[in-house]
Amino acid sequence: MDQSSIDALRAQDIAPRGHFINGHSQDGETGARHQVLSPINGQPLALIAEGTPADVDMAVRAARDSFVDGRWSRMAPAGRKKVLLKLADLIEARALELAVLGVRDNGTEITMAYKAEALSAAATFRYYAEAIDKIYGQIAPTSGDVLGLVHHAPVGVVGAIVPWNFPLMIGSWKIAPALAAGNSVVLKPAESASLSLLKIAELAAEAGVPDGVFNVVTGSGSVVGEALALSMDVDIMVFTGSGTTGRRLLEYSARSNLKRCYLELGGKSPNIVFADAPDLAEAAKVSAAGIFRNSGQVCVAGSRLLVQQEIYEDFVTEISRHAEGFRVGDPLDLNSQIGAVHSLPELQANLDFVTKAEAEGAERRTGGNRILTETGGYYMAPTVMANVKETDTLFQNEVFGPVLAVTPFADEDEALRLANATVYGLAGGVWTSNLSRAHRMVAGIRAGVVHVNTYGGADLTVPLGGVRQSGNGHDKSLHAIEKYFDLKTAWIKL
Ligand code: ADP
Repeated sequence: MDQSSIDALRAQDIAPRGHFINGHSQDGETGARHQVLSPINGQPLALIAEGTPADVDMAVRAARDSFVDGRWSRMAPAGRKKVLLKLADLIEARALELAVLGVRDNGTEITMAYKAEALSAAATFRYYAEAIDKIYGQIAPTSGDVLGLVHHAPVGVVGAIVPWNFPLMIGSWKIAPALAAGNSVVLKPAESASLSLLKIAELAAEAGVPDGVFNVVTGSGSVVGEALALSMDVDIMVFTGSGTTGRRLLEYSARSNLKRCYLELGGKSPNIVFADAPDLAEAAKVSAAGIFRNSGQVCVAGSRLLVQQEIYEDFVTEISRHAEGFRVGDPLDLNSQIGAVHSLPELQANLDFVTKAEAEGAERRTGGNRILTETGGYYMAPTVMANVKETDTLFQNEVFGPVLAVTPFADEDEALRLANATVYGLAGGVWTSNLSRAHRMVAGIRAGVVHVNTYGGADLTVPLGGVRQSGNGHDKSLHAIEKYFDLKTAWIKL
């Protein structure tokens, strides 16, 4: 990855994009397009198809037909494996192109996007491709006159709705296991970050995924997303995004065909620093990255820092120093450590959180303002708000921006109580050199993942999923593939 290759890619024009349905780019029912702005400079970037319910129906029909005729669903797992490995290779070969395209769309710093988006997508397709011919059914321990077989049957048509912060990474977490298991997929990307996933659909066709098996319909959540989730012919929905939309999906399911919904929602994850942390300087550095990279637009971001009273002042000073030290700027400049906030409304919402926090008595230690306005892009200074109380909006609500809420605690009991004092349960972190305390905290924090003496970075081998109002179900690891199968029993009289 070098600057001149990145600059050459960013200079390329992006042609208007249609949906990807039944193996081809299609304009859709109305031919209407949606203008996408680049967060890098606020300028028009691309025109994408504005989907309608009829476009969704067309994609779902293509998916169903492909599923029923078995062109993919009944292909031998080793055959699907071969195609998906080829797709992984194609993604890897085009990794920089995909990463730059995605950054122009969503504003993530390229150093992160290259690994966490493009290379991680390739790795995810490879992981589930490798897994699929190693998953066995079961023979039940019945009496000798019958044979009870438990099959893993693909569920059918999978509807997937994904957000804009990591479209390739999160998209692949859904698409790869769904396809590996033999399902057909209709994906709706976020309206403001569809480009790289449309490219994945083209690469999938090039790799040999048959027509109709992987479809992408672009457009708004309230039209395309709603139509997909209300479809009577979608068997399960998999989703990453806000709690508000997650609730809607459950309603759509209830109003349609009772499809199962797997939801990965927001978080307000506690990152807890005890005075006995093995290396406080390292804790401050990693914790700062754990909230400020990708401008805090990370579902597992450690957005609530809980610090033990006796080290509180020094630690807040140290993490504020790191916040101020980050180079925020053009996400396609290799020197930038933090890129752009995704959109103007997101930026405004972040700033509003800061204003509200100050009104509620929190102390702004650094940041809190828009920067680099002259670029036309959407940039925000990493922000540290100290003395945030349990009852404050900033303690309870997800910002999804570069805003850290810091709260002191006295002892382990109070730390645990504060950790669990929101409705969320996605991630957490604990910094301590006391092994027993670390285990007690892992057991006590209500979250899908708890990091110890680090924050973030969990790889594909482990599941990610929320508890409480952070969602249900899991992405990543072999556990994630289970939801893409129905268990089907054959009870055979011998
Ligand atoms: P975020 O705050 O990350 O934008 P959203 O939940 O609004 O969270 O968006 C995540 C995804 O959900 C996007 O693809 C968006 O278009 C989609 N979405 C938004 N509203 C709806 C809806 N009413 N029905 C289905 N999908 C929706």
